[in-house]
Amino acid sequence: MNNSDQNADSGELMYVKCAYCGKWMDVKPGQMNQITHTLCKDCLEKQMKELEDLDKEGT
Ligand SMILES: [Zn+2]
Repeated sequence: MNNSDQNADSGELMYVKCAYCGKWMDVKPGQMNQITHTLCKDCLEKQMKELEDLDKEGT
């Protein structure tokens, strides 16, 4: 048991997860046990390509 360690880690961690493929990307100090959805680099690139394709189809 180490009380000072418990104080440093108050359990307030923010989990960063890719909303697309579900890959866990990061865990960092932040709001209490919050999960932040974002896109990882791979999925972001996919999304960008899909958007480009939609633009082309739109003409
Ligand atoms: Zn992803």
